[in-house]
Amino acid sequence: MRLDKLLSNMGYGSRKDVKSMIKKKKVTMNGSVPRNSNLQVDPFKDEVKVEGEQVQYRKYIYLMMHKPPGYLSATEDARDKTVIDLVPESYQHFKPHPVGRLDKDTEGLLLITNDGELTHKLLSPKKDIEKLYFAKIKGRVTEADVKKFQEGIVLDDGYKTQPAKLTIIHSREQSEVEVTITEGKFHQVKRMFEAVDKQVVYLKRLRMGKLILDETLRPGYIRELTEAELNYCL
Ligand code: URA
Repeated sequence: MRLDKLLSNMGYGSRKDVKSMIKKKKVTMNGSVPRNSNLQVDPFKDEVKVEGEQVQYRKYIYLMMHKPPGYLSATEDARDKTVIDLVPESYQHFKPHPVGRLDKDTEGLLLITNDGELTHKLLSPKKDIEKLYFAKIKGRVTEADVKKFQEGIVLDDGYKTQPAKLTIIHSREQSEVEVTITEGKFHQVKRMFEAVDKQVVYLKRLRMGKLILDETLRPGYIRELTEAELNYCL
């Protein structure tokens, strides 16, 4: 990889910016000042420093976001704010994207990465990755609903869902429940409740596979996955 590309990819500025830094002798490679910016570097072997500080090369980023309501799970949109607008500037050059979608009004765990292979793996219907949601439901959720979810729900388009686990936390005028699904059909949880004549009024994803939402992460914030968390996903 070219030295200027490496530095630009690592967030040190545009190609033009890093070329200027190299010219100003702010960059060293294996202890010496490179004569030009199109020098080839091995990002894993060569030691590149900017103003004395070693450049840690990485190709991928893996971020946990606590998605707030009001943001689209997309990389860009002409009208609405997207979850990528919440990703700090220092990560933007990695061109991150959300792994799957939460509805605009849904909150909770969202993985953000630029690793397309991992995204593909996590979203593959074959993988049956469990997604756990907390939901507030208008109306009393009953044991009959629990049974129907267990058997699979026929949605408005005729599709029958895989068995889902519905746990009633409390059943009142407005009930609170947890739902675990293994698929990711459009508006799935909302449509499953619609099929039993109930309405989801609040939805928050708590878990995806073994990855659990860090409740210390406030809505709208992100943090990098820990190594253990990343190992759950890879
Ligand atoms: N199911 C929904 O209905 N909405 C979401 O955002 C996620 C799952």
